[in-house]
Amino acid sequence: MPNIVTEWEKAHLAKMGLPLPTICIEERHRRRLCNRNERRIYKDKCDLTGKSIISLYSPDKKNVVYSQEAWWSDDWDPKSYGRDFDFNRGFFEQLKELRMAVPRLSLMNTRAENSEYCNVTTSNKNCYLVFGGDFDEDCIYSVFAMHSRNCSDLYWVNRAELCYDLVDCTDVYNLKYSQNAYNCRDSAFLYECRGLSNCFMCVGLRNKQYYILNKPYSAEEYKQKIAQFNLGSYKAVLELKKRFAQFKLTFPHRYAQIINCENATGDNLGGVKNAVNCFDIEGPAEDIKDVMLGGWGIKDVLSCDHVGHKIEMVYEILGSIGSYNCAFGTFNWDCKDILYSDMVVNNCRHLFGCTNMKKSEFCILNKQYTESEYFDMKARIIEHMKKTGEWGEFWPMQDSMWCYNETVANDYFPLSKEEVLAKGLKWFDEEKVEIGTGDTVPDEIDAVSENILSATFICAETGRPYKINETELKFYKRLNVPIPHYASETRNEIRFKSRLKRRSFERKCDKCGMAILSSYDSSRPEKIYCERCYLETLN
Ligand SMILES: [Zn+2]
Repeated sequence: MPNIVTEWEKAHLAKMGLPLPTICIEERHRRRLCNRNERRIYKDKCDLTGKSIISLYSPDKKNVVYSQEAWWSDDWDPKSYGRDFDFNRGFFEQLKELRMAVPRLSLMNTRAENSEYCNVTTSNKNCYLVFGGDFDEDCIYSVFAMHSRNCSDLYWVNRAELCYDLVDCTDVYNLKYSQNAYNCRDSAFLYECRGLSNCFMCVGLRNKQYYILNKPYSAEEYKQKIAQFNLGSYKAVLELKKRFAQFKLTFPHRYAQIINCENATGDNLGGVKNAVNCFDIEGPAEDIKDVMLGGWGIKDVLSCDHVGHKIEMVYEILGSIGSYNCAFGTFNWDCKDILYSDMVVNNCRHLFGCTNMKKSEFCILNKQYTESEYFDMKARIIEHMKKTGEWGEFWPMQDSMWCYNETVANDYFPLSKEEVLAKGLKWFDEEKVEIGTGDTVPDEIDAVSENILSATFICAETGRPYKINETELKFYKRLNVPIPHYASETRNEIRFKSRLKRRSFERKCDKCGMAILSSYDSSRPEKIYCERCYLETLN
C-alpha cells in the first residue's frame, strides 16, 4: 500500500519530536502485532522458583520466564541486567539481546480466581481459555468477552449471560448464533438487531418479540414453530446456519457500525470524535488515526493497537494503558515519556530501550543514569539511530519474542510457513498427535452421556485433537447446544473470519449512489447502504 501521511499526522509527530513513517499503515500494523501472543499458551516452569506455570513462551524458547507472582515480586531487579550502549553497533540488536536476557512475565492474567488458562485478562473467575476478556465468570473459549457470565464461544461481546457462539453483541441473555445484536434475549440467529426477545432468524429488527424470519407470530405459534427446529442437533444447526447466511444476504447491510460518532471513519466505532481509519473503538476517544482496538478514554493516538484507559499522545504502541507520550513500544502501563520499551509498568518515567521494568526513571537499556546523563545519552543514541536508519522505526518483526504464527499478526495478515521463513521470521510447528480417526461426534446433545468426557475428537477443519470437559458438557446440555465438530481455537478462527477486515474501501451506496468508505469491498455479495439509506429500511 502507498505510505500516505496526512497533515494531522505530521503535526502529531512534530509535537512528539518524531520523524514521519517510512512504511505504510498496514505494514506498521503487522510489525506491531508480531509482538502480541494472545492465545498460544504452554506448560513450563518458572525460571526463578521452579514452580509449574502456564506461559506465553513454549519451553523450547530461550527466554527467561518468571511466574506472575515471581515477576511482580521484589525478589529480582531488572536494573541488574542494565548495560552500556555500544555506539559501534545497531540499537535494535542491543535491545533484542537485553529483551532476551531480562526475565519476562509468563502470562498477563491479573486478579484471576480459578482461571489460570487465560491471557491478557483481569478479574476473571472460574474461566477457561478466555483471552482478552475481563470481569467474566464461568466463561470458556472466548476472546474479548467482558463482564459476562456462563457463556462459551464469544468474540467481542459485552455483558452476556447464558450465551453461545456470538460475535459483536452487547447486553444479551440466552442468545445463540448471533452477530451485532444489542439488548436481545431468549433468541437465536439474529443479525443487526436491537431490543428483541423470543425471535429466531431475524435481520435488522428493532424492539420485537415472537418473530421468525422477520415475520410476526403469536406466542403460542412461536413456541410450536421453534420446537420443530431441533436446535440440539448438530446437523440441524449447520443447516440453519446456511439458511440464515442466505437470508441475511437478502437485506441491505449498514456500510459500517459507526454509532454516536462525530467525524469518524473505519468500523465498529462508538462514541468517537475525529477518528480516521479506526476499528473496534469504544469511546470516549478523540483525535485518533489508524487505531485498532481500544478506547475508554484515549486522545491524540496515532498508529496503535490494543490501547486504552486514559492513554494520550502516543504513536506506534501496542497493548498499553494509562500512559502519556510513549512511542515504539509494547505494554507500557501507567508510564510517561517512554521510547522503545516493552513491559514497563507502575509509573515509569523517562525510559529509553528498557524492558520488564517497574517504577523506574532515567534508564537506558535498563541501566540507571542521572537526569542530565540520561538526556545527553538519549540524544546521542538518537543521533546514532538516525545514521543506522533505526530512528523512527519500530523494532523489526524478526526481533519478536514469538514465532509469527503464535501472534495475532497471523490473524490479520496470514502467511504460509514458507512465506514466513522467506521473510526471515520464525514459524511454530504444532506437535503432531497421532490418534487415528478419533471418536465419532454425537449429533444430538440429548443423546450424550458423561461417557463423552473420555472421548477424543478430531477437529473437522484442522485435525487438532480436542476433548469435552465436564463444565462444557453441562453448559451444552443447559443451553441445548450440540457437541461442536471443531476444536475451540478453530471455532474462534471461524468467528474471527465472520467479522470484516480492519480496512475501509471506497465504494458507492447501493441505493443512493453516494460515495462511502466501507469495510465491505465492492466485490462482496452484500447490498451496502449508507447510514441514511440504511436507517430508512428499519421498521
Ligand atoms: Zn445511500
